[in-house]
Amino acid sequence: MTGRVTLIGGGPGDPDLLTVRAVRALEQADVVLYDRLAPRSELERMAPRALLVDVGKRPGHHAVPQEGIEALLVEHALSGAHVVRLKGGDPYVFGRGGEEVLACHRAGVPVEVVPGVTSAISVPAAAGIPVTHRGVSHLFTVVSGHAPLTDAEHEHLAGLGGTIVVLMGVNTLPSLAAGLMRSGLTPTTPVAVVERGFRADQRTTHAELGDIVIAAGLAGVSSPAVIVIGEVVRLAHDGAADAVALMERASALAGGPA
Ligand code: SAH
Repeated sequence: MTGRVTLIGGGPGDPDLLTVRAVRALEQADVVLYDRLAPRSELERMAPRALLVDVGKRPGHHAVPQEGIEALLVEHALSGAHVVRLKGGDPYVFGRGGEEVLACHRAGVPVEVVPGVTSAISVPAAAGIPVTHRGVSHLFTVVSGHAPLTDAEHEHLAGLGGTIVVLMGVNTLPSLAAGLMRSGLTPTTPVAVVERGFRADQRTTHAELGDIVIAAGLAGVSSPAVIVIGEVVRLAHDGAADAVALMERASALAGGPA
């Protein structure tokens, strides 16, 4: 009998941020294919019956290539297993989840997708930054910094006037900052780079767009990090900051009562 595949969004790294549905799927899993995000000890506890297969990149080891992961998913499912594919954040946000779903469809394997808490929203939040805020920003765009953007894309982004959230953007930050300023974004636009969200060593580097490349270089910023560009960064608070002060800052930014 053919098994099935459940693609799970694992959230930004803290097991507490898995959904209830994801936890249930892990409990029932025969095989779990996971990226490097999940601590193995947690997985052993959460998926007690499962064969655990690490398909992610680790220093000194090669990741299993995408086609290899798809072949493994299908192979295990065709042999009757309930296969859980555990991915970081949400499976459909720069996660190649769509390709894995297609591979299952092609092989006639039933597949379900369990959405996850994406780092695009949750990691800024972990640093006290709301990606939208009434009167400050009513839109946010999530972009991949995996490859440099084109000039047309810089212009569109700068022209939108909302919050820009960049994933996988540490290496391309210099070209992004330069491109956005060429396209008219003011060098005083606030930027935050949030590294290792929800981990004990989470760190946020704040600077203006004109200075962020130097600031990030001095701080030795490294991946994984989420970059947030826009006025909402001024609302950043530490967990203890009171809501009144936050609202006052928002109201000052918006030029009126919040
Ligand atoms: N599907 C994932 C994103 C995969 S791309 C999601 O929805 O979150 C991988 C990128 O996500 C990293 O390069 C980084 O930009 C971001 N990221 C994921 N987890 C993170 C974390 N805990 N802290 C900071 N950035 C993170």
